[in-house]
Amino acid sequence: MATVEICHLYPRELNIYADRGNLAVFAHRLAARGHRLRIVEVEPGDQLPTGAHLYYLGGGQDRDQLMVADDLRGTKGQRLREVVNGGAVMLAVCGGFQLAGHGYTAVDGTRMDGVGVLDADTIGGPTRLIGNIAIEAELEGERGRIVGFENHAGRTTLGTGSVPLGRVITGFGNDGASGFEGAVTRRAIGTYLHGPLLPKNPWLADRLLEWALEAAGTPVSLDPLDDALEIAAQRVALRRMGLTA
Ligand code: GLN
Repeated sequence: MATVEICHLYPRELNIYADRGNLAVFAHRLAARGHRLRIVEVEPGDQLPTGAHLYYLGGGQDRDQLMVADDLRGTKGQRLREVVNGGAVMLAVCGGFQLAGHGYTAVDGTRMDGVGVLDADTIGGPTRLIGNIAIEAELEGERGRIVGFENHAGRTTLGTGSVPLGRVITGFGNDGASGFEGAVTRRAIGTYLHGPLLPKNPWLADRLLEWALEAAGTPVSLDPLDDALEIAAQRVALRRMGLTA
């Protein structure tokens, strides 16, 4: 039995899209395989613990991001880059995705510098990119379909240090034009998909957990669970987008 430690960054400030739901999915899927989850919540002013196996940065609106951006970059940025370079996993959703990159310039010109874990930069546009989204993702050569909901003004472009998480099947994705969604560098993932993200996407949840277990010194290939409910939920989302599973 392994204990996976998750560092949950700014649970009070960045939680707009039921981010705790993602952590509940991690807890459930680990427990079903006989493993344990420990969550360490990190607030503004706290030092970043360097021993966690997965770092989670949730979503927020511009004003929420503004509350944490300086703290993230100043107090935690260097360590976050180091732990990801050392093999730790990171999942950053929506506003968190923007701050995991080089930064976000809001439509009013306010610049919030990010930590540069992902080679991505974001500029706010005049319209919001809102709606259901489905992508064909690829992680370390393995493909899976991911569904979710997106709601962002930011248009994100990637540099050469990140690859997209996937290609948009239906929806806007990073910028509404490139056909790409999300960003991946090493085992850090940024994405605009929420809802929350993981309950309807067990494939992605298990890839992240396998990475986290590897970071915890217990590399395993996780046995499938009975995901009938999760897959049914994904099917409903796909049908709403006019897609079949
Ligand atoms: N502030 C960001 C944006 O609008 C994050 C998304 C959000 O608030 N939902 O691009």
